[in-house]
Amino acid sequence: MNFEPTETQALIQRAARDFAARVVLPIAAEIDARATIPPAVVRALGELGLMAVNIAPELGGSGAGVVAYALAVQEIARACASIAVTMSVTNMVGEAIARFGTSAQASHYCPALARGDEGLGCFALSEPDAGSDPGAMVTTARRDGAEWVLDGAKQWISGGSAARVLIVWARTGPPETGTKGIACFLVDGNAAGLRVGRPEDKMGLRGSSTVPLEFASCRVPATAMLGSENDGFKIAMMALDGGRIGIGAQAVGIARAALEESVRYAKDRRTFGAPIAEHQAIQWMLADMQTRIDAAHLLSMRAAAMKEAGRPFSREAAIAKLFASEAAIAVCNSAVQIHGGYGYTRDFAAERHLRDARVTTIYEGTSEIQRLVIARSALA
Ligand SMILES: Cc1cc2nc3c(=O)[nH]c(=O)nc-3n(C[C@H](O)[C@H](O)[C@H](O)COP(=O)(O)OP(=O)(O)OC[C@H]3O[C@@H](n4cnc5c(N)ncnc54)[C@H](O)[C@@H]3O)c2cc1C
Repeated sequence: MNFEPTETQALIQRAARDFAARVVLPIAAEIDARATIPPAVVRALGELGLMAVNIAPELGGSGAGVVAYALAVQEIARACASIAVTMSVTNMVGEAIARFGTSAQASHYCPALARGDEGLGCFALSEPDAGSDPGAMVTTARRDGAEWVLDGAKQWISGGSAARVLIVWARTGPPETGTKGIACFLVDGNAAGLRVGRPEDKMGLRGSSTVPLEFASCRVPATAMLGSENDGFKIAMMALDGGRIGIGAQAVGIARAALEESVRYAKDRRTFGAPIAEHQAIQWMLADMQTRIDAAHLLSMRAAAMKEAGRPFSREAAIAKLFASEAAIAVCNSAVQIHGGYGYTRDFAAERHLRDARVTTIYEGTSEIQRLVIARSALA
């Protein structure tokens, strides 16, 4: 067992950390306030190799592996959770195309996603009435000669308004085929028949736009199918397993920011003639925050290392995501408490961290769904 990063992992971590400190952190509050990420930041992430960390260099990626990817997401999330999720989803989409796509699909999309200059990768699985239960989706894909015709609606699509390519799941079989009759398609962001709706006005993660999508007779060539016709659901579940490592890492990054700012504040703020850091109640909060963060980090690294080693990692990814997301909320909540009344204002970042952390127990599978996955494995 080795807790030290390899040279490559340390290199990626350093690159992400430097970029986060130099470029991202100074504009993080503005990204939240304006609810937009400057495109130059996304391009710069691409130039650093952070939009395709676990993708082979032949496809434009860094080829640095899953652990390096998780370390990088954590560093970016430490500065800005919205940028971290943007990076995480594009990495996830690129990986799915590299893994399940034909070589033509991979060489067409992966280098562009890796560069970060032509738009993002999006993951369009959820629907207005199918989130935790994607098998209930009603979007359809009908074969028409050499094309598939997509009709339906997707909901909550991160980065959907700036997409280079979307992986879109749709039902190719009748409803009674359940999760078997589902396929997925690579749809260009500018495809005719794809309409992007108004961004959601969210509590947190405001820099990352989350949009509904409508598909009205959206035609894609038969070659746009990713994997084979009945494998769509399996591909979604496998991609989400990997995605959960990214969200776990994002949660750890947000929590680290909240702790570091709390420590600084606690040393500075004085009550009853002493810095609040000298009150044991504050020290205990800081101790619990640090302990939760370390445990979440180790769980997230374990899941990443298992994926990298090619071992089954569904259960470990669910455990990491569940623990890290709930830890992040608890840590950020304590950060607001430590900041007192100031923690409840926009003058300090603690409230943004709490708002950003809140979604991590919801997306890429709620905490309840992670518990289902973990319990299923325990009972198997
Ligand atoms: C900011 C944001 C970004 C997102 N980005 C994307 C994206 O890019 N792509 C995408 O496809 N989706 C995305 N999502 C959707 C997200 O994955 C879903 O919101 C999530 O899976 C929950 O689905 P739901 O909202 O429909 O809630 P529901 O499924 O309706 O669940 C409601 C509640 O019931 C609970 N519940 C449901 N079923 C069970 C059960 N069997 N046992 C116990 N409890 C249960 C849930 O845990 C939850 O608490 C995003 C969501 C948000 C908020």
